[in-house]
Amino acid sequence: MGRFDSGAARLNPVSFVGQATQATFHMTVSHWRRSAQSPTTLDVGTCIVGAGVCGVSAAIALQKRNESFVILERHALASGASSRNAGFLMRGAACHYAEAIDLYGRAPARDLWRFTEANLEGLRHEGCESLESYRRIPSTLLALRAGDSGEVWEPDAAYAKLNRAGLERSLTLMREDGLEVGWLEPGDKAAPADSAWKSGRISCALVNPSDASVNSYQLMKLLAGKLASPVLENQEVFGIEDGEGRSLLHDAAATNQPTPNPLPRGGGFGKVVVRAADFTVRCERVLVCTNACASLLLPQFENLVKPRRGQMLGLAPNGRTLAASYYANDGSEYFRQAADGTIVVGGCRTYFAEQEVGFEDRTTANVQNALESFARAMLGYSKSEPLPIISRWAGTMGFSPDGLPLIGPIAPQSPVWFCGGFTGHGMSMGYKAAHEAVDAMLSGREPLFSISRV
Ligand SMILES: Cc1cc2nc3c(=O)[nH]c(=O)nc-3n(C[C@H](O)[C@H](O)[C@H](O)COP(=O)(O)OP(=O)(O)OC[C@H]3O[C@@H](n4cnc5c(N)ncnc54)[C@H](O)[C@@H]3O)c2cc1C
Repeated sequence: MGRFDSGAARLNPVSFVGQATQATFHMTVSHWRRSAQSPTTLDVGTCIVGAGVCGVSAAIALQKRNESFVILERHALASGASSRNAGFLMRGAACHYAEAIDLYGRAPARDLWRFTEANLEGLRHEGCESLESYRRIPSTLLALRAGDSGEVWEPDAAYAKLNRAGLERSLTLMREDGLEVGWLEPGDKAAPADSAWKSGRISCALVNPSDASVNSYQLMKLLAGKLASPVLENQEVFGIEDGEGRSLLHDAAATNQPTPNPLPRGGGFGKVVVRAADFTVRCERVLVCTNACASLLLPQFENLVKPRRGQMLGLAPNGRTLAASYYANDGSEYFRQAADGTIVVGGCRTYFAEQEVGFEDRTTANVQNALESFARAMLGYSKSEPLPIISRWAGTMGFSPDGLPLIGPIAPQSPVWFCGGFTGHGMSMGYKAAHEAVDAMLSGREPLFSISRV
């Protein structure tokens, strides 16, 4: 969740490519593991790597077509971002509609908004409305009033004006393009009398009336429960090869280590061989759905999918209510109330952007302090009142260079495809993107959001 590093960020703008502070990590595999014969060989049509919302949705798409598949997951179902997010099922992308038009063009922006509407529709078809945590609730993009508290998240007058103008422009353009949209200002009869509006911080809100929110782990269990064959957990994929043992992951000769025990082709499968701890999979094609971790397996993705840490905190409701899900300061901060009353608050990454990179799963004092001060302001807690914090956590998002998903073969004609790069919005795009990847992969057509554009 949150805005992407387009260079237009309000504070601490970062250039996306060539960030000096980010260390490079690639997965290495010991000789012992690489040369070990896996006890079990599986023959399937498609091997999916990663059991987040993207991988599991891809499996659902394949199952609907009676195509055989297996999902190999290095940890457990939804152990990545898919159970660590804020649970917004929100229309649109990291930026607001007018900015999306500036970045992508008018028709592509409208198609993207429709794509995310279709994502939610697809999740509804899978039964997400039956979950106790599912809420059909508007999400609102907030421009905040300028303040002088000195808190990192508090807009100055220039940014507050710009942010509001951007949302106003989005409202006009969305109406012109036939997208359902609402607008609220303080004092409007329709503005909810909830804690966020009572805070006095809101300048205006652009409303997506038909959005939803959910406990993402519950959603992932629902989706995985649809699969005829279970996710194979604790199976980190460390090699993808052709039938002769040549790596298909990259073509850098220097790192291309031959495999000591190439598997023979067999059973009509075997064009591709995928290696994990306890399984060797012979298959026709592979769909890598590892999102933020892409470059660990696919070194050539280092500049395509950047790992960006998102941090969150959870608060007991303590009498606070939120009638919508809120996305403030161009998505830099966000908060919503879960069906059980818990309030989750996330963001503040952009103010510490150089630090919030990489794969490390931990919370940090400066981001958490900023989140606390934001929560105090938006939920009406004074500085002396203790915040009823019940949890803190982090997750890693995969940011693409232009904020759009990346779908397609990892090299021309390769049987290995990638789907990911959701730039903090994968719960709102991943189901539909996975279906698009599967359809394009099986039919041989160019996918939407093709990797070839970058
Ligand atoms: C704090 C935070 C808040 C967010 N809030 C929202 C939100 O409110 N709404 C929204 O739409 N999006 C949100 N997102 C983004 C969203 O969660 C992600 O875009 C989405 O979950 C990505 O799904 P995925 O399946 O592509 O990746 P992931 O869920 O990360 O799944 C990738 C899987 O691949 C596995 N894997 C990696 N390498 C290997 C390997 N070599 N072998 C086998 N398995 C491997 C990982 O263990 C992981 O389970 C948020 C993200 C964060 C971190």
